Amino acid sequence: MGRFLRIAIVDISGMRKLPADSSISGRMVLINPEITEWDGMVMGREGCLSVPDFTGNVIRAEQIRCTAIDEKGQQREYRCIGYEARAVQHEVDHLDGLLFLDRLVSRRTDLFKRKIYKQKSET
Ligand SMILES: [Zn+2]
Repeated sequence: MGRFLRIAIVDISGMRKLPADSSISGRMVLINPEITEWDGMVMGREGCLSVPDFTGNVIRAEQIRCTAIDEKGQQREYRCIGYEARAVQHEVDHLDGLLFLDRLVSRRTDLFKRKIYKQKSET
């Protein structure tokens, strides 16, 4: 029996524009990630492969700090902004059993049926 690991892979390398200030190259392996700082709240539209038919408005921190072990077993600290910060918060939520549906601004007005499928760069 191994140890229980929480693992998230955040890959935004498919994005046309990577955040300039990003601490990573678009793909990060996060083992036992912990978000340690949240800064600035911003609402954004999110989709999820687990919820293919809907998108929704979710308020997330615009910047975060996150500690995690990387794929080489090194403890690291990341500073993420913008889309990357949103993606990390989304994935860490998954590790905690939460979907963006649990964080909608309003279930009545902030959940949208998808008209077209966009598979790329969803998290
Ligand atoms: Zn998701």
